[in-house]
Amino acid sequence: MGFTVHLPTLLLLSVAINLLIGGLLWAIFKLRSRQHCFRLWALACMAFAAGTLIAGSRAFIDAPWITVFLAHVFLGFSPFLVLAGLQRFSGRASRKTRRFRQVLRFSAASYLLILLLSFHGDPLNARLLTALFSAAIFSFAVYTLSKLDTTPSLPVRILKVLFTVHGILMMSQALVIGVDWLGLNQTNTGFLLRLILINHILLATATALALPLLAFTQSEQRLRIMAERDGLTGLFNRRSLFREGIRAFDKAAQSQAQLAVLMMDLDHFKQVNDRWGHAAGDEALRLVGRTLRHELRDDDIIGRVGGEEFAVVLRITGDDDVRIITHRLLEAIATNGQEIQGLPLYISVSIGGVEKADHHKTFADMMIEADSALYNAKNKGRNRVEFGQLTPETTTP
Ligand code: GH3
Ligand code: MG
Ligand code: MG
Repeated sequence: MGFTVHLPTLLLLSVAINLLIGGLLWAIFKLRSRQHCFRLWALACMAFAAGTLIAGSRAFIDAPWITVFLAHVFLGFSPFLVLAGLQRFSGRASRKTRRFRQVLRFSAASYLLILLLSFHGDPLNARLLTALFSAAIFSFAVYTLSKLDTTPSLPVRILKVLFTVHGILMMSQALVIGVDWLGLNQTNTGFLLRLILINHILLATATALALPLLAFTQSEQRLRIMAERDGLTGLFNRRSLFREGIRAFDKAAQSQAQLAVLMMDLDHFKQVNDRWGHAAGDEALRLVGRTLRHELRDDDIIGRVGGEEFAVVLRITGDDDVRIITHRLLEAIATNGQEIQGLPLYISVSIGGVEKADHHKTFADMMIEADSALYNAKNKGRNRVEFGQLTPETTTP
């Protein structure tokens, strides 16, 4: 059974889809005008549609400067604009990024120049050059994507696959044209080139569909971080700490595992602010956050639950001793907090701890008990740990 594709229909369909997606991306850019990547991606779709339309008009118009040269300018610039958009999307204007942009501009200018100089009205040169240029751009795009850090990573993976396949396809096209050009091949390569063109159109359209997905995943990730994290320390905020703490409590209750909650409050912090200024105080808070992260395990739940108050939920396993852990925290904070940004701040904390017991029916019960243990630690002189009712031993470093 033969399989034929009516190429003009496919071309028109792809032009229509790319114009629609381009319009959508432009509308998104209008709504999020700070995200310039959407404008570049919209232009990429439109350039692809324009290039395809102009190249397709070759059957009716005999003007190679338009139907071949101009069409290839548009077709070559389409992946270029996708890459420029990815570059904008990936963000920070570091020196490396600026160099990358210069390389991009230089390659676009070289492409235009070589296209112009090698153009003699015949489409072969232009197609070969555009295929090679596009393959290089797609390799760059895969590299740019590998530097991105978005969660979930599905859109990045989809785009990587699309760009890789597209790059290979463009190299194959260049190879087939090159073989034709050198006259090495006696067989008809028309069918092969047609197949490559169909896949090229499909891949370009799939890429246009996948790009907004990537941008929305990143926005979602940023919003989630803003909603869940404390802006100063990057630790969980109060709401997230409670949510994670409740989850850990329920899990521990089901599996009879041990759990501990520590409440911490910086000592005489008002004086630190009054004496050394709010900026130094903020730096002290960041330092405490960093110290907690450094001293505790990745799966411990650490949050800043108030101005200068922190809470930690520890999942305790066999050999762990909460007392040793809390002593280590006290010591680390007192040592690191002696001098901050060259100022003798002498930061210390008081800690109230509680280990999960039968009378704790909810996570909030543990938090209340840890809070009152913290109150005891403050009353007993600060820079020390006090434990809740069931663990009567009290300790100082
Ligand atoms: P205590 O040892 O009894 O806890 O004394 P304290 O001075 O730490 O307690 P108090 O609650 O009186 O003061 C807390 C101070 O924490 C007041 C406020 O200036 C400071 N603070 C709260 N949030 C921030 C913040 O985000 N940045 C800075 N720099 N200071 C903060
Ligand atoms: Mg306080
Ligand atoms: Mg305090």
